[in-house]
Amino acid sequence: MKELRKKLDRSCVNATAGDWRDWRWQFKNRVTKIDALDGLAGNRNKDEIKAVASVYPMAITPYYLSLIQEHNEKDPVFAQCVPTSLETDFSTGIAEDPLDEDTHMPVPKLVHRYPDRCLAMVTETCAVFCRHCNRKRFWSRPNHINLKARFQKMIRYIAASPQIREVIISGGDPLTLDDAVLENLLAGLRDIPHVEVLRIGSRVPVVLPMRVTKDLCRMLKRFRPLWLNTQFNHPREITPEAARACQMLLDAGIPVSNQSVLLKGINDSPDIMKDLLRGLQKISVRPYYLFHCDPARGCAHFRTDPKSGVAMMEKIWRQCSGLCLPQYVLDVPGSSGKIPLNIMSPALQKDLKKHQHYFDKFQ
Ligand code: SF4
Repeated sequence: MKELRKKLDRSCVNATAGDWRDWRWQFKNRVTKIDALDGLAGNRNKDEIKAVASVYPMAITPYYLSLIQEHNEKDPVFAQCVPTSLETDFSTGIAEDPLDEDTHMPVPKLVHRYPDRCLAMVTETCAVFCRHCNRKRFWSRPNHINLKARFQKMIRYIAASPQIREVIISGGDPLTLDDAVLENLLAGLRDIPHVEVLRIGSRVPVVLPMRVTKDLCRMLKRFRPLWLNTQFNHPREITPEAARACQMLLDAGIPVSNQSVLLKGINDSPDIMKDLLRGLQKISVRPYYLFHCDPARGCAHFRTDPKSGVAMMEKIWRQCSGLCLPQYVLDVPGSSGKIPLNIMSPALQKDLKKHQHYFDKFQ
């Protein structure tokens, strides 16, 4: 860690161990300027990174930077946070808004695609801007513009929509908001009688685990049933700090599930995926979804072929217990839910055929 601090700017060199554990310090000292990446950008050309970051900004917490072992694209942490010119190769003609979210917003930043649940995008800020993010189109837009007014409109819409029983609070990363701001929002949602369940989507346990404080857990606990979905994509991200953050949430009665994204060169090998899933089970985080990478603009270099994803999951299905197994899914705009890709599995279909006589008994 000392080595890393030396490479970062002066404020990091002088940081104390207390600073390092303080989420506000980590957030304030995120690496957002290319020059601060000196010695960390590996073989990536600085001008190239600057040009990409002017379209899709960069932000990396010192903590997440410290998880990099090799400063090149082969490193799974480096590849997830350091910009590459591949992000601005738009020749593949894919969509800026692949899930068609912008056309399903009855009020600003509230997506209502499925009848019983809605997604509230409560900020455009993240602790780390993940290079594979399917909402990277929001990063360069102004942040935190009158959040209060935004939240009021959301709450009014949800209160007037009795079919909504679950609200997913996402962003950006909602846990980059201060406790008091988040508390107001959660209280407003909890006051709506037909909202049964709240869910927070946050990568904070992975990229800024010190954000999970006792105060935060105490506050979140008051709004249960509240679920937290996070996004570990590689076993290297399961550190003692991350495990501790998840444990604190679990101790507060908040179930923590994981939604990985299948990323080329990062977690698309059966061995790495198996280590990730087993590692999550060891820290009591339930692998929930493995998302096939959406066809979002700026992410083409991370996308794999769904067939190879199915083949990888087939191998894993045979080796891991059910508690370790996420559903491998594709999010499709216009569909009534996420589509499980295991239905494409030839081995599964063969198994079903082999046991057809068993199913026939139930006819
Ligand atoms: S934390 Fe989530 S919303 Fe933010 S950049 Fe990463 S994937 Fe996207």
